[in-house]
Amino acid sequence: MIITDTHTHLYSESFDNDRQNIIDQAIKNGVSRFFIPAIDSTYTEAMLTLEANYPDNMFLMMGLHPTHVKENYIQELTHVEQMLKRHKFYAVGEIGIDLYWDRSTLEVQKKAFKHQIQLAKTHDLPIVIHCREAFDEIFEVLEEEKDDNLHGIFHCFTGNLEQAHQAISYNMKLGIGGVVTFKNGKIDQFLDRIDLKHIVLETDAPYLAPVPYRGKRNESLYILKVLEKLEILYGLNAETIAKVTTQNSFEVFKV
Ligand SMILES: [Zn+2]
Repeated sequence: MIITDTHTHLYSESFDNDRQNIIDQAIKNGVSRFFIPAIDSTYTEAMLTLEANYPDNMFLMMGLHPTHVKENYIQELTHVEQMLKRHKFYAVGEIGIDLYWDRSTLEVQKKAFKHQIQLAKTHDLPIVIHCREAFDEIFEVLEEEKDDNLHGIFHCFTGNLEQAHQAISYNMKLGIGGVVTFKNGKIDQFLDRIDLKHIVLETDAPYLAPVPYRGKRNESLYILKVLEKLEILYGLNAETIAKVTTQNSFEVFKV
């Protein structure tokens, strides 16, 4: 069984003491494909090291995270642009809009989001979207950018059924992680009405650990709890869900 974690920050400082162990444990249990979203230029070095240590398992993305769109964002976007020219990446991400932490930067966040979607199209890459309290704003940008080249993943999808259909209409897969196991997570109530071909699995480690680890540091191995939950929701066995969602990740990232 091959399980794909389409969103994991394995370069995070929170793994500095046991990174190798965490990764080896995951691989031993079938979680062997890791897609690594960027945050900002301060993490690029650590991401490249991760890839050098596990060239067969780690697939990097490049991008500027919406909560890191600050005064220096032009410089950061130049970094993204240069790295995309210099190195093989599998997506532009994570990018998007986050109005939970800061509403005052909406306009620059939008600008950075749009710019990075265009970079993705230039490089023929998918995008990986971070959306927090910003569905309307994100959909507005996607509506403007919608074309045959636009595709990717709506990471950590937490919307309703209607928003799920809308995301899918822009050629996005829905990234499903720990939230699906939460009592108040809501997406478990309608997910079975979304065809599995639109779903990819993720952890967002070290964040958003699934039940029973909720509130603790998340790790890639815990994706098995997400898989278990989907077995119940879809009435399918783990092998089938792992196979289909891994196939979906191939479709998105072309690897
Ligand atoms: Zn993330």
